[in-house]
Amino acid sequence: MRLSKRVSLISPSPTLGISARARELRAAGRDVIDLGVGEPDFDTPENIKEKAKVAIARGFTKYTPASGIRELKQAICEKLKRENDLSYSVEEVAVSCGAKHSIFNVLFALLEENDEVLIPSPYWVSYPEMVKLSGGVPVILPTEERTGFRVTPEQLEEAITPRTKVFILNSPCNPTGAVYPKSELEKLAEVLVRKGVYCLSDEVYEKFVYGVEHVSIASFPGMKELTVVVNGVSKTYAMTGWRIGYAAGPKDLIAAVSRIQDHTTSNPTSISQHAALEALTGPQTSIHQMVEEFRRRRDLVLKRLEEMGLRCPRPDGAFYIFPRISQFFTSEVGNSTTFCQLLLERESVATVPGAAFGSDDHLRISYAASVESLEKGMERLRRFLGDLKPNY
Ligand code: PLP
Repeated sequence: MRLSKRVSLISPSPTLGISARARELRAAGRDVIDLGVGEPDFDTPENIKEKAKVAIARGFTKYTPASGIRELKQAICEKLKRENDLSYSVEEVAVSCGAKHSIFNVLFALLEENDEVLIPSPYWVSYPEMVKLSGGVPVILPTEERTGFRVTPEQLEEAITPRTKVFILNSPCNPTGAVYPKSELEKLAEVLVRKGVYCLSDEVYEKFVYGVEHVSIASFPGMKELTVVVNGVSKTYAMTGWRIGYAAGPKDLIAAVSRIQDHTTSNPTSISQHAALEALTGPQTSIHQMVEEFRRRRDLVLKRLEEMGLRCPRPDGAFYIFPRISQFFTSEVGNSTTFCQLLLERESVATVPGAAFGSDDHLRISYAASVESLEKGMERLRRFLGDLKPNY
């Protein structure tokens, strides 16, 4: 087929390739430890599931407004006020089929052909592809261990050109786990306000912070008008399959996102919207239990990695660790992709190559797995590295 130029610019999701191979190996009877996953290994809390059943029983099974039901938007406004100190009206909120959908629609609504979008790397795999699909140009701002994988205000300012339209901020970050402290966000905000650059703030991991505070960049002076806050229920409430995310931002942008949904997906699933309403307004205890467990696992994996000589700045958020592996590269293992492939083939441990996130010297390990799996996975990784060393 003669596919469009736009679609030929984007690559398949690199994370899916590894999971497909891991599934194949598992089907063939191998005991695969999956440390590649991007979702909590907890079940959706019962109260949320129950409300979905009630929604079905009561007949909430028809079209809703394309950008979501009013009660859910109201609950999102209350959440943003209560937890992020941000005041939005329901007209400033659009509910979509997952945060990924919200991000795409926001970019699609904002970008003209060749508008530049600043993306700090390592980045979440979908940002550059969604920018390209929307006609924009991703401009990558590389960050390193030295700055805790966080972009500096100087770096941001230097990268801004007359064509810069949007800066994508992801704190806590997938894949590095970096969380921007308030003092740094304030400085980034100052640059964005002075230069009039919009900010897409992806806050889907906001609850997954360990001993630090999550602050929304929209809360700084002058930023609310420039920022779209994107969040959802996928990670916070272990609801990745339910597909509910949302964007909160200036009214005209949200109206544009709603128009896009009017003519593309229509509403996110009516039943999931009722489940998300319960998630946001019901008991929040499951979050605390999940976060406590994740903190324990993070500490365990970090310790094991350090014992193996794999180092990285302590990830204060999300559920990923992003150690440097380039010191183990040999003539046989020359990059993060071959490293991950071999680790999977030899030791049946699935991880994601740093290349997928714009950094070929690293490896992403997800600790959304049981302690037993993590212990096993770390032991196998240690053995794998030991076998690599003779060539090194
Ligand atoms: N943003 C980041 C940084 C993510 O890691 C993910 C999922 O992995 C998403 C957004 C998408 O979340 P959702 O399931 O709500 O579409």
